[in-house]
Amino acid sequence: MAESRTPPEVDRAAASRKAVAARRARASLKRDIATRVVTPQEVLRRATADAASPAGTMRVPDFLTAIPAIGESKRDRILDHLGISPVKRLGGLGVRQRAALSQWLDARLPEPEPRPQRSRLVVLAGPTAVGKGTVAAHIKAHHPEILLSVSATTRPPRPGEVEGEHYFFVDDAEFDRMIAAGELLEHATVHNAHRYGTPRAPIEKALADGRTVLLEIDLQGARQVRGAAPDATLVFLLPPSWDELVHRLVGRGTEDAEERARRLRTARTELASQGEFDFHVVNADVAAAAARIAVLAG
Ligand code: 5GP
Repeated sequence: MAESRTPPEVDRAAASRKAVAARRARASLKRDIATRVVTPQEVLRRATADAASPAGTMRVPDFLTAIPAIGESKRDRILDHLGISPVKRLGGLGVRQRAALSQWLDARLPEPEPRPQRSRLVVLAGPTAVGKGTVAAHIKAHHPEILLSVSATTRPPRPGEVEGEHYFFVDDAEFDRMIAAGELLEHATVHNAHRYGTPRAPIEKALADGRTVLLEIDLQGARQVRGAAPDATLVFLLPPSWDELVHRLVGRGTEDAEERARRLRTARTELASQGEFDFHVVNADVAAAAARIAVLAG
C-alpha cells in the first residue's frame, strides 16, 4: 500500500535537512582541501576511519578536483589510471583502490616530514587572523620555561602595550641602525606598513643557556630564520577550516568588498606556504594548540 510506504511529512523534512547539512559539510571540506587547510591524505584517512563522515561520503572525482592544480581532464586520467569508477565515494573504496590512491597522493603531493635534527629555536607563523598572537600569549603565560622573543617595531604602541614587554618601539633611524649593526636575526615590512625585526642577542643568550625560544613572526621572517638557522623548528598554525578563517578575517564585515577579497587572496597565498614548515598545528582551541607547540618545542 503506497500510503504506508511513504514516510510521514516530518521524517521527510528531517531527512532533507540532514541531506542539506551533509552537502554543506562536504562543500566546506572541499574548500579546506582547495585552500590546503587539510592535506588530501588527511581527508583520505578520515574517510577510511568513518565512511559516513563528510570525507567518507565525498565522491572521488569531487575529492580530486578540490586538490589545487587538478582539473577535470587530469581528474579523469587519474581515475582511469587508478581504476576507480567516478561514482565511487572515498569511504567506499576497496582496500587496493585506497592504497593506490594513497600512493599516488604521496608521490605527487608529499606531506612534509619533520626533520630529525632540530634546535630549540621555534618559529610560529601562519595566515593572518589564525590567532598566532593569542596562542603565543597563552604559551608565555603558561610555559615560563619558553622565552617569547620581543621584537623591535616601527609601529606606534597600541593602548596597553608596554615597551620591552610587547615590543621595543623604535623609530626608523634606530631600526636602520639595528639592521646595519647586524643586531636583527630577521626583519620584514609587514602588511606594507611598519617594520618588525627579531633582536638576535637575547635569543643567542637563551639558546646558550639551554632554553627554548619562540618567535611569533610573519612568513617572510620565518623564511629568513630558516635561511639563517636551518635547524630551527618551523611551526605553521592552521585554522580549523577555511570557512572559519574567512569568518575570522572578514567576520566583522567592516571592510569593503575589495578589501575582503584582498584579505582572502592573501590568506590563500599564506596557506600555500605551509609545505615549508616542519609541523602543522590546528588552532581549534587556544590552550590545546599552545600545549601542542610547547611539546614540539621541548
Ligand atoms: P602587530 O602589529 O599586530 O603586533 O603584528 C603584525 C604582524 O607582525 C604579525 O603577523 C606578527 O607575526 C608580525 N611580527 C611581529 N614581530 C615580528 C618580527 O620580529 N619579525 C617579523 N618578520 N614579523 C613580526
